[in-house]
Amino acid sequence: MRRLLLLAFFILIACQAVGSLAPDPTDTAQPSPTNSPIPTHPAPTPTPTPTPTSTPIPPLEGGYLVRLHPDGPLFVGDQVSIEVISPETENQKEKNVQIQITGLAANDLGSSKFEEHGIGGRIQATFNWVWDTRDLQAGEYQVKYSVEPEGPIWTETVSLLPKIEVPSPEPAATWETIVLDCCEINFISGTDFAQDVPELIDLIQDQAESSVDRMGVDFVERIPITILPRVLGHGGFAGSEIYISYIDSNYAGNDLSQVLHHEMIHILDRRLGGELRPSILVEGLAVHLSDGHFKREPLLPRAAALLELGWYLPLTELADSFYTSQHEIGYLEGGALVEFMVNRYGYSAFDDFYRDIENHSSGDQSKALDLALQEHFGLTLMQMEEQFKSELYRQHINPDMYEDVILTVAYYEAVREYQRLLDPSAYFLTAWLPDGEEMRQRGIVADYLRRPLAPQNLVIEELLVEVDRQLRVGNYLEAKKALDQIERELDRVQEEFLIGAYKVGEAGAVGLGVD
Ligand SMILES: [Zn+2]
Repeated sequence: MRRLLLLAFFILIACQAVGSLAPDPTDTAQPSPTNSPIPTHPAPTPTPTPTPTSTPIPPLEGGYLVRLHPDGPLFVGDQVSIEVISPETENQKEKNVQIQITGLAANDLGSSKFEEHGIGGRIQATFNWVWDTRDLQAGEYQVKYSVEPEGPIWTETVSLLPKIEVPSPEPAATWETIVLDCCEINFISGTDFAQDVPELIDLIQDQAESSVDRMGVDFVERIPITILPRVLGHGGFAGSEIYISYIDSNYAGNDLSQVLHHEMIHILDRRLGGELRPSILVEGLAVHLSDGHFKREPLLPRAAALLELGWYLPLTELADSFYTSQHEIGYLEGGALVEFMVNRYGYSAFDDFYRDIENHSSGDQSKALDLALQEHFGLTLMQMEEQFKSELYRQHINPDMYEDVILTVAYYEAVREYQRLLDPSAYFLTAWLPDGEEMRQRGIVADYLRRPLAPQNLVIEELLVEVDRQLRVGNYLEAKKALDQIERELDRVQEEFLIGAYKVGEAGAVGLGVD
């Protein structure tokens, strides 16, 4: 049975040691209360982020997996989107999927090619808002999927519940917009954000001003911000606009200022440009200029704790696979690296180097970094790394820091494991994040409002919120207790999947997120 890698293997509290990827009962070394080095241990990395399709959900015909949106039961009036996820082994070039609702007059939902989706590049055919159910009756419908050419072909039964049963705050919920000096904020009425908006306006404006100060460049136009009334990914995304989760019980942490600042830095950074901005520096810069990742934190000492714990990721490896490396370690290390370089060379010299990095013919970001480092600072990537590590070894590490770093990593591993199992639309590598502007034009709110609300979801989300709350006040024993409980809950879910308690196609969704 699969377990939470980090939870099972190296959560420690009360200063036990970091375990390896296999439990090591003999390993009881403790972080020292002084700054003396502690024994190093096999790192949690590569904590290979499990592939998004490796959930224990039983696949459909031929290994294909179907997900319908919005999450949970479907209702008359929904604009339904469909993801048809390919088996990992299939070569899907030149193939497409056709979807039909059988037994209806207007039954052809069209076809879509297989393409990469999300940061994780999952191969799937995506149908955005393809099934308009506004004129239909409640009841069961047969949805026929055809992979062409060569098949397979299969049919699923999908239930549409009566419109009157749509959960609150729908169907009265609509998109609303508030325009500030900095930003255009789009949110949905009836949500937690709508309730708190008067007290959040100053916070949002302050974060924008702070990010402008830190980057030394202003926004050319108001930043579009879409408020998500559910958790998606780690709570923030930035492209041409910012998407940010705001919900009272945010199970992925609840620091709006921090996430907002981070995403605003991304927008400004993007505007300043550069041929190749390597991911390790893009995220490192946002973490450095926000004085932390999920919270304000001393980056160099915490990265030094990684080194002492044996969790440090070599920069070449991290640069070449940033988003699939262990997430919290990668961001912390990237942030500390940028901070080290800025401290050493000054922001201006760092910025000149960063925006001058060119693509390398190999496609490796580490090689591109290596060349630019030599050109600007006369150091190879390895030489820079040696100096970076020497600086880390000079840091003073507060003893609490070990526990905080370890439990922070474990907490977010638990968040992601929960998402993969019970809230897959939220899993960061393949999140279901429809375009906010298009949703507003179409008047659609359900894709963001609906989320899995089964008892298991609520129990685990509450525990995750508890972990975050305890971590933020430094109550590590309580955080650890809640994490242990989450692990037990997720193990139980895994077992239920294995014995088939979750069936494919339940309640209009495919085995997930149904009440
Ligand atoms: Zn980021």
